[in-house]
Amino acid sequence: MPTLFSRIAAGEIPATIVARTSDCFAIEDINPQAPVHVLIVPLKEIPSVNSLTAEDESLVGKMVLLAREIAAQRGLQEGGYRLVFNCGPDAGQTVDHLHLHLLGGRSFGWPPG
Ligand code: 5GP
Repeated sequence: MPTLFSRIAAGEIPATIVARTSDCFAIEDINPQAPVHVLIVPLKEIPSVNSLTAEDESLVGKMVLLAREIAAQRGLQEGGYRLVFNCGPDAGQTVDHLHLHLLGGRSFGWPPG
């Protein structure tokens, strides 16, 4: 079964797609936790950070660079932003397809809740 995010990438489930590259795509989160909340998702179905291998090294770099590019487009460079990979239940991961959260447009607390 394709994952939720693969179904979004295929156009089977609607979403606001903000970027597409040969390896990744980015969508507006359906339940935004900040004025900017974008998910950067690889086309490859990797369940989580736990499943990454050395083969994925460049893919993860591309995800971070795409997040940086979107952050710049949204004017977040100066004020800053947060990039988050939730991994597993203790981190609150709910979709088992690797994704990087780009959050910005407000201040965030630390440590996270
Ligand atoms: P996680 O909790 O796994 O780190 O993040 C999953 C994210 O996917 C959540 O922020 C959630 O709001 C978002 N999400 C879940 N279902 C959908 C959906 O159908 N469309 C979009 N655009 N985002 C979704």
